[in-house]
Amino acid sequence: MSEFILVGKNLEEIEKFMVDNGQSKFRAKQVYNWLYLKSVNDVNDMTDLPFATRQLLSEKTKLCSISIKDKQVSKDGTIKYLFELEDGNYTESVLMRFDNRANLTACISTQVGCAMGCSFCATAKLGFKRNLTSEEIIQQIFLIQADTGLKVTNIVYMGQGEPLLNFDNLIGSIKIFREQFQVGARRITVSTCGIIPQINKLADMNFQSTLAISLHAPNQEIRKNIMPVANKYKFDDLITALKQYTEQTGRRVTVEYVLMKDINDSVYDAEKLAVAISRLKSNVNLIVYNENEKSSFKKPLKSSIQKFKYILEASGKKVTIRLERGADIDAACGQLSSRMSAE
Ligand code: SAH
Repeated sequence: MSEFILVGKNLEEIEKFMVDNGQSKFRAKQVYNWLYLKSVNDVNDMTDLPFATRQLLSEKTKLCSISIKDKQVSKDGTIKYLFELEDGNYTESVLMRFDNRANLTACISTQVGCAMGCSFCATAKLGFKRNLTSEEIIQQIFLIQADTGLKVTNIVYMGQGEPLLNFDNLIGSIKIFREQFQVGARRITVSTCGIIPQINKLADMNFQSTLAISLHAPNQEIRKNIMPVANKYKFDDLITALKQYTEQTGRRVTVEYVLMKDINDSVYDAEKLAVAISRLKSNVNLIVYNENEKSSFKKPLKSSIQKFKYILEASGKKVTIRLERGADIDAACGQLSSRMSAE
């Protein structure tokens, strides 16, 4: 008989397990608090449970189906986790601390590999293996908390995979993060390369977390050269869908733009972008390209970054430049493609 996996289950499911195994229903709430509010490493640490209940749990349950296979710590304190899944696949998460803030931000994956094929991204080189289950998504945060003893305050769906192509498990995991882990909706960000029907679905759900869009180009021509998804969902249609999204939800979107030398970083590109998003309620997050050995794309000159930022700001946008984290351990944006998962 396979073990009952605890992390990722809701209260009703844990109650059912307890009752089916001759325990009183109210014990479930205790287990549930240990899992989600304390992230214990071992069921034997659930100290307010009777010995017999703990024994039952250690015999018949397992905290997680995924496990930490490897962990790398960057000079800047960023930690990259490699997780092994039950079927032998691997996936990754990154935990970032920012010196001047109490926030602890975890970047998590929704798929093993990715099917989107963006030409500049290392994860794309892995191809797509499979969706993660909502439990596997939730367990990434659980294991990070259990490992560090710290509470993750912000969650970004910016690891491996396209979150909107694993829609139900994305939404299921957000529900648990909000209701159980008590992470506020505004502290959760989902990044997408622009799957229009699912953006519309989020709008209809009145999605209250932050939607970030990997735009990376000022127009269809440049976008389709670097992001194959643009062949299916055209630039102008994407901007229209995003406008609709902001109107329906009342929420601003984040436009992510990876600056790559001589690809999309000219003054002309900045001016085009400013016009394209001028009527879109949005903030802009500029990302300096993280070079890697698998690709020939280069990072922009410092002067191009500043000019690009200035032009967007002059058009009235709030612009931030994303801090590079964990580059020395290949934990920065677009670098999540461990040797293990490439096998
Ligand atoms: N599929 C989703 C989630 C991935 S988020 C999406 O596309 O938004 C990862 C972000 O890092 C994306 O914006 C991606 O385009 C960007 N990225 C990929 N390779 C990068 C690199 N080498 N340097 C900087 N950013 C990169």
